[in-house]
Order: sequence, then structure tokens, then C-alpha cells
Amino acid sequence: MKKILKRLERGGSVILFLDYDGTIVPIVKRPELAKPHPMRRKLLEKISKKIPVAIVSGRSLYDLKKLVKIKGIYLIGNHGLEILFKREIWVHPYAIRMKKYIGKTLKRIEDRLKNLRGVIVEDKGLSGSIHYRLLNQDKKKALKSIIEEEISKSKGKLKIKKGKKVFEIRLNLNWNKGDGVKKLLSLLNLKNEALKIYIGDDETDEDAFRIFKGGDLTILVGRKKSSFAKFRLKNVNEVWLFLKELLKKMGRKET
Ligand SMILES: [Mg+2]
Repeated sequence: MKKILKRLERGGSVILFLDYDGTIVPIVKRPELAKPHPMRRKLLEKISKKIPVAIVSGRSLYDLKKLVKIKGIYLIGNHGLEILFKREIWVHPYAIRMKKYIGKTLKRIEDRLKNLRGVIVEDKGLSGSIHYRLLNQDKKKALKSIIEEEISKSKGKLKIKKGKKVFEIRLNLNWNKGDGVKKLLSLLNLKNEALKIYIGDDETDEDAFRIFKGGDLTILVGRKKSSFAKFRLKNVNEVWLFLKELLKKMGRKET
């Protein structure tokens, strides 16, 4: 953490990007319960008053808005396909056209998974998540083969991405969290010279780590072996310690 904080000393403007699950909230068995503690929310709100802050998640905007509840914060949902900035919402045009198709596919998968206890199919509008944190380990193979079979029917329109205890059903589109980050920067007309910080824990965050340049701060949360991120924090608690320090530094800069 010291090394990361040292990088901040060079001054200049800062933009903060944060993944949600596994980064600022711990991964829990019921994803709808993953909310930041009010104190932590307050801290993030303070930071967002000083620098632009964006949450970048695989969750839908709708979901993120309900959970995050911080005014003035930017939200990038559905792995970059939808962005809330100021009072506007940008949505990837192809994703808008495919929304119905995605919904129908998820419904079909849900019907076939009815007999597997501990599986939750979540329709996120522009994508879907099939959570299996509560599923018996020996049923995982059956789950996987049903999902694969149904997605193969889309003839390449949809793809499966694996996350932590979740299968993500996504458009087979060359668009990821990194593209969402770039899109937000262009929507906000933000200068390139600002120091960008991106903190994330998952495979999908690697797409974002990859777009940043040498001077930027990419931080992986957890013990994953290989990563494009330059720095590491151990867990969600350490992320918040870092954010606390970040706010302190911001405060000092002002005075
Ligand atoms: Mg995550």
C-alpha cells in the first residue's frame, strides 16, 4: 500500500475507477445484499466531491443505482454497455437492439434450471448472470452443460464468461469494462493527463487494467496469480484503507 500511496504524491488531477463486487463490497451469497456500510458510503461520497469517481461493474445500472446511492458518482454497468453520467444515460446501440433476444434466452435457461437448487438466474437487461454460490459442487457440471447448450443456439450472438461463482451471459461483442472506461472518459471530455486509478478483483477487470498506461495506477484485489495490474491490495478492507488515505491526501492538496 505504501508504494501505491507514494505514486499519488506526484500531484495533478486524479480519476478513480472502482469495481464493485469483491472490490468495495465483499462477495456474499445473496448478491442483492452486497451494499457498502453507510460510513464507507460517506467516505466515497467525500472522495467523489473532490475527484471524478466511477463504479465499473457487471451489474446493471438499475442494480448499481439502488445499491450505491451516492450522488454525483458515475456508474458503468453491464461490463461497459451502459453508463450513467451526470443525469444522462448512454447505452451501446447494438445492446439496445439485442435486449429482447437476451431476455428470451435467459428465460429459456431459467426454465431448464428449475430443478437445480441454489442457482439464481438474473436478467440484467443487456446481459445475464447465473449465480451458483449456493449450488452443490457435484451439480456444477450439469449446470455448465445446460448453459453451454442454450448459448450455442444463439449461433455466436451470445457468449459465456466465467466469474467468481457465476456464469455471465453476454453479447458476443468486442466491448468490455475497458471500453466502458474509455467511453466515459470521452463522454466527460476528461483530459488524458489525469492520473487514473483502477481497482478491481476479477477476470473482467483485466480488460480495464490493459487499457491504462504506465503512469496510471492499476490495482488488483486478492491473490490471483497473473494480472495486468501493477499493484495489489489484499482484500476489500485494504481497499477501504487505501480510499481513506486517498481522501486524506486529497484534503491536504486543497489546503
Ligand atoms: Mg469484482
